[in-house]
Amino acid sequence: MRLCTVKVSGHPRVGLIEADRIRLLPAQAGDMVALITQGRAAIDRLAARGDLEAVPLVQTDLMAPIQRFGRDVLCTGWNYWDHFEESRGKRDGQDVDRPKAPTFFTKSPSTIVGPYGDIGLDGHISAKWDYEAEVALVIGKRCRSVSQAEALDCVFGYFLANDVSQRDLQRRHGGQWLKGKSIDRTMPIGPWIVTPDELDLPEAQLELRLNGQVMQSAFVKQMAFPIAELIAELSFGMTLEPGDVLITGTPSGIGNAREPQVFLKAGDEMVVSATGLGELRNRIVSANLHGTTDIPSMSEAL
Ligand code: MG
Repeated sequence: MRLCTVKVSGHPRVGLIEADRIRLLPAQAGDMVALITQGRAAIDRLAARGDLEAVPLVQTDLMAPIQRFGRDVLCTGWNYWDHFEESRGKRDGQDVDRPKAPTFFTKSPSTIVGPYGDIGLDGHISAKWDYEAEVALVIGKRCRSVSQAEALDCVFGYFLANDVSQRDLQRRHGGQWLKGKSIDRTMPIGPWIVTPDELDLPEAQLELRLNGQVMQSAFVKQMAFPIAELIAELSFGMTLEPGDVLITGTPSGIGNAREPQVFLKAGDEMVVSATGLGELRNRIVSANLHGTTDIPSMSEAL
């Protein structure tokens, strides 16, 4: 099953993607998080109804599949060893040893943008805008301290994310990843949620193309800590709720680790794709995000 959030007459509606059309679930059934909370069986019952309105699948009407967040977006760092190694010596004195357990952090839900939405770039905010193709998941049932064997049963579905990051803001505020990962409307997600029964996720190939050139390419099975282990570790003593989103880390090929380095600029187009998950396609546009700040431009700090 592929579930999307689509704009219909200016309002978000949840729909089922079926070939070139979307069958809309009843508005009274609620938003994506409400449906996920009701569970797969309830969604299956709605999907079986013969009276659902259908609209054509028009990509530009697709919104981020999840619009409502009960907490920050949960994030994984360094989950492909080739990515960990490529950044060695390039962390501006913040290098660490190879971790023995997953690295977690969070970012603001205000980062969320649609699967085909423009991303505003302001050189005053950061001189080092970078991309990170990732597989994301949404939790389907409340869980705490689950075993690895139980962990994947807690996942409702999978989708794509591009964890666009500001490398200078990651360094500027100490050894943290919140600030350089939380600029408004910089993380596209989607294009829709795919349920696990439709995927052979370990064999999926995750890619990012920048202006048509492949910059990142890896199989999900190359993860340092598989998804079951991420959920077991993250839920260890900490309750995960239906609708919680976890992004699972990016493979090698980020712009900051390249020689010469590659940073995003206005006019660039990023396409993130993975087998069975569709693609995100986002353009970088100039924006004024700094308003009346008295903090000096990050570009002048270079
Ligand atoms: Mg990331």
